[in-house]
Amino acid sequence: MQDSYYVRQVQAQHFGLAQQKRLEASSVLILGLGGVGSAAALYLASAGISRVGLVDSGRVKESNLHRQILYTPGDLGQSKPRAAKEELTRRRPDLQCLPYAIDVENQLQEIDESYDLLLDCLDNVQPRLAAASFAYEKELISISGGAKDWEGFLLVSNSKKTACFACLYGGLYRNKEPYPSPGIMGACAGMVGTLQAAFSMRCLTEENPFPRGKFLSLDVRHGQAQEITLDKNPSCPVCGQLR
Ligand SMILES: [Zn+2]
Repeated sequence: MQDSYYVRQVQAQHFGLAQQKRLEASSVLILGLGGVGSAAALYLASAGISRVGLVDSGRVKESNLHRQILYTPGDLGQSKPRAAKEELTRRRPDLQCLPYAIDVENQLQEIDESYDLLLDCLDNVQPRLAAASFAYEKELISISGGAKDWEGFLLVSNSKKTACFACLYGGLYRNKEPYPSPGIMGACAGMVGTLQAAFSMRCLTEENPFPRGKFLSLDVRHGQAQEITLDKNPSCPVCGQLR
C-alpha cells in the first residue's frame, strides 16, 4: 500500500515509522473466524500486517451475521476462511491470506507455514487447549480472547514464561464436553477482537511488552475492565513443570 494509507497510524504516540515497518513484515495466525476473530482480522489487516493465516472449519450461517462482521448475507453457506480471505483482500489487495478450513482440535499440526503471533479467537475449551499446546511447541506468543453475553476476557501469554490458557482450564475441563454456545452481544465480541488486534500490534513491534503476561476480564455492559494477576500453574498440562 502507499505510505499515505498508514500516515495517521505512524503519527500516533508510541508508534512510528519503525514500528510500521515491523508490522509490515509480520504474520499472524488467527484461530477462529467468529465474532472475535472477525474484528481482530479486520483491524490487523487494515493496520498493515504482511500475512495472515485464517483457520476455521465452519461455514457462514445467518445467525453469525450480527457479530461476525467479516461476512455479509451473500456469504451464507461459504467456508469461513474463504469468505474471510475475500473480504480482507478486498480491503487490502496486497495482504497475503492463507485459508485453512481445518479442525483446530485435531489438525493444527498440518499448518506448515510459520507465523510471528497466534490469536486464539476460539469459542470452546478443547480447541483452546490445543491452541495453547501448539503455541507452546512453536514458542509463539498467543493472545486468547472470548466473549459471551456482555462479558469478555483476554489473555496474553508467552507460555515459556507466563501463564497459558491451559493454566486456567487444563485440569478443570480436560475431560468435559465443550459448553453450549451462549448468547452473545455482537459489540462485545468486537471489542474483545479489537483489543486483541491492539495488543498484537504491540507484541509485533515492541520487545516483550507484556513481561508478566496479562489477563483482563471485561464487563462491556458497564464499560469496566479488571486486570487479574495470573500465575503459571506448576501442574499445567501444557506448560507446567510436570509436563
Ligand atoms: Zn500453562
